Amino acid sequence: MQTYEIYPICTGIFSAAEKSNFTFQKDQGVKIQAPILMYLIKGKDKVILADTGCSDGEWAAKHHHPLVRTAEQEPLRALAAHGVCPDDVDIIVNTHLHWDHCFNNDLFPKAKIFVQERELRFAACPLPTQYTYYEALQTGMVPKWIDCVRRMQTVDGDHELCDGVKLVFLPGHTEGFQGLLVNTDAGGCLIASDCLPLYENWPGNGARFHATGIHTNLLSLFASYRRIEQMNVKYFPGHEIEVLQIKKYPEKGD
Ligand SMILES: [Zn+2]
Ligand SMILES: [Zn+2]
Repeated sequence: MQTYEIYPICTGIFSAAEKSNFTFQKDQGVKIQAPILMYLIKGKDKVILADTGCSDGEWAAKHHHPLVRTAEQEPLRALAAHGVCPDDVDIIVNTHLHWDHCFNNDLFPKAKIFVQERELRFAACPLPTQYTYYEALQTGMVPKWIDCVRRMQTVDGDHELCDGVKLVFLPGHTEGFQGLLVNTDAGGCLIASDCLPLYENWPGNGARFHATGIHTNLLSLFASYRRIEQMNVKYFPGHEIEVLQIKKYPEKGD
């Protein structure tokens, strides 16, 4: 099976994110720094992006939460630092269509975009509690994913994306949420994104899962957590500041 390298990329940092949005009913009122992450996945002949990150600070402050983005964290510049230019990206996988995970799809004109069929349907008509996260049509906004809808390929459930990368259907945070199971020289890794936004959601070693605070269905979410437990893999979260310590996974010599 082919192996890949994973590079976490920060596209901005929420300066005071409500922690309980990530840890259901725990630490209400506590504010944390939360990066908005996308993941560059490089293989022998494929460049894949898991999510494409958030908007600039001005848009975020107006419609969502204040965030800080340095010039180096602008997605194209951050990718250039890894030797990747926009045309190099073959595949984008949107774990889900919340604004902070698909905002920059349009920067990669040659990429085919993979999204779950159920996610696309839900994004067109979300629960009202999630209107803002989707920048939903129902609020008078035009969600960014619409710009690239012609390049989208929908899948229904688990899907072999290519040799060594599998899309795994993990609903709960949203109706059509998916993770990416990536084969590396250090074993399988799950890009869990907002299914497990922090390391605290699942410390592993037999610890229980703590649900993310934002979800459409807790039963589905916990069924997804049980699936993750059975995978027995390392996971990469969606908004964890500690991830920024990792420049490349696996490190050489791991
Ligand atoms: Zn989300
Ligand atoms: Zn998110």
